[in-house]
Amino acid sequence: MGNYGIDIWSDDNFIIEDGLAKINYNCKPSLISIVKDIRKQDFKGPLLLRFPHITEKQINTLYNTFNSSIKEYDYKGTFNAVFPLKVNQLPNFIHPLIAEGKKFNYGLEAGSKAELVIAMTYNNIGSPITVNGFKDKEMIHLGFIAKSMGHNITIIIEGLNELEIIIEVLNETKMECPNIGLRVRLHSGGSGLWAKSGGINSKFGLTSTEILEAYELMEDNNLVKHLTMIHFHIGSAMNSIKPLKKALRESGHIYAELKNLGATNLNSINIGGGLAVEYNAYERTRFYSLSEFSNDVIFTLKDIAKQKGVDEPNIFTESGRFISAASTVLVAPVLELFSAEYDFEHLKLKPVNPPLIQELHDLYNDMTKKTAYEYMHDCIDHMESLLTLFDLGYIDLQDRSNAEILTHQVIKKAISLLEIDDYEELKKLDENIQEKYLLNFSLFQSLPDYWGIDQEFPIMPITHLDKKPTRSASLWDITCDSDGELPFDMKKPLYLHDVNLNKEDYFIGFFNVGAYQDTLGMKHNLFSHPTEVNIVFKDGEVVLEKVLESQKIIDILEDIDYNTDDIRAILRKSLNDHNYKDIEKYLNENSYLKTIWSYHE
Ligand SMILES: *Cc1c(COP(=O)(O)O)cnc(C)c1O
Repeated sequence: MGNYGIDIWSDDNFIIEDGLAKINYNCKPSLISIVKDIRKQDFKGPLLLRFPHITEKQINTLYNTFNSSIKEYDYKGTFNAVFPLKVNQLPNFIHPLIAEGKKFNYGLEAGSKAELVIAMTYNNIGSPITVNGFKDKEMIHLGFIAKSMGHNITIIIEGLNELEIIIEVLNETKMECPNIGLRVRLHSGGSGLWAKSGGINSKFGLTSTEILEAYELMEDNNLVKHLTMIHFHIGSAMNSIKPLKKALRESGHIYAELKNLGATNLNSINIGGGLAVEYNAYERTRFYSLSEFSNDVIFTLKDIAKQKGVDEPNIFTESGRFISAASTVLVAPVLELFSAEYDFEHLKLKPVNPPLIQELHDLYNDMTKKTAYEYMHDCIDHMESLLTLFDLGYIDLQDRSNAEILTHQVIKKAISLLEIDDYEELKKLDENIQEKYLLNFSLFQSLPDYWGIDQEFPIMPITHLDKKPTRSASLWDITCDSDGELPFDMKKPLYLHDVNLNKEDYFIGFFNVGAYQDTLGMKHNLFSHPTEVNIVFKDGEVVLEKVLESQKIIDILEDIDYNTDDIRAILRKSLNDHNYKDIEKYLNENSYLKTIWSYHE
């Protein structure tokens, strides 16, 4: 894997050229040039780079692909889509999405009151809003208010009680009723990690008995005319289309039966989200193209409509991951290579050393390309024996330090000798000779799905890509939590470059992080959301828009309900002017590291 799998996961959004990761768009700037520009403004921590042009590309691809399937099958329904806000609610992402989506009438999906407020405020009037999830009376009332603003809003009920609340609100307020959708609980489940979103045991939706009851309740209350949509969502990141096809058949028949019962305004099937994104850098895990997907949807729904003699339904999708994942890249500066501590300058050999340490020294000096692998192996054995000797009290701390330094130097020398020819041999020892890279970021804040559900993300340094990466790498974040690590994995090995951070910078890019990570991320250790920037292109030039700095320490403390006046007053009282001035400065900076003391000014 010489190119970090970029041809598998990047969808041509990024390319490697002249050893640099570049954005494959417009003037094709390198990521490092953008990172340097931002760092010049004194943002030294992790950066979230957002690329609205990639969101635009995904929206265009979604609509164009479905519309061309519609044409191909001479389908009579229309294609419609909404963006599910839970996937990324942040304004820097949402504002460009709404602007770009206008030409298609691209809408928003809300799953909570706060999300519904975003949708009501910013959605283009006329573009659809769908409301999912559990709702109380206030949330349903908000839906009515959105309707009164002129929004094209559909409240999708998850249970009979929600329908009863709609009737209550209707009777109490005499407001105009929004469209009503029914989320159906399918017999067929989804696939993958999120399968519990669909299927008979799923958390959401109405059973067939409840659908019939709901229909009766609507008939009794003269509401059938508002029923417009059948909805299902079988789960996120579907790696195959098969479960979707089953769900389409099932819901297609429910749609047709309700129409035949007399639901004359029922005209849409909302197939939820779930389109997968390729996160894997080693092999493809997504086994369908968008056009296969859209052809299957159109073909299946057309078939059922024909069989049951009903109009072909309009199609709604709620794909979030597919629209947003690729738009965001996290760039984390490497602060330290662990083995940097094992530099020769720290070696303090004694006049007389334990024999094994002398042996290590000889291994280092005598190593040739031919003996490199063998010597490295011997060296690792010796090191283990030396650690045992230390535990038993036979060698002292200075000996141990010398042993560790020599071992690291033997490994480094072996790697550089073997680098080109015997790389395969070297790999057998990967786990023992890994380098640890300390990165200026919090895994809990920026890659919560890695921590929570072992979600992988493509990882690639953004420079040095014309040089062979020689170090098997594990990545550490700066939280004080041993879970804040991406350990070296023999099955999916990550190799990085052996860099001297005193002389050069090194940045690691995490790609496809635009879905779910932003607001799932948590402030473990009080590391807050990284500084983020929208990168847009104007007249062939890069423009950094909407720089949002990572939260200041004082604001983080306020967020968790400390009284910041108290904090200031207490510190003020206990400190002299000079120290207080310094602390006031720090309170107004974010909590990421600027440098590592030992290596930089
Ligand atoms: C989460 C969710 C989505 C988005 O799913 P993706 O896998 O991100 O496309 C769509 N619809 C509903 C109802 C959801 O809960």
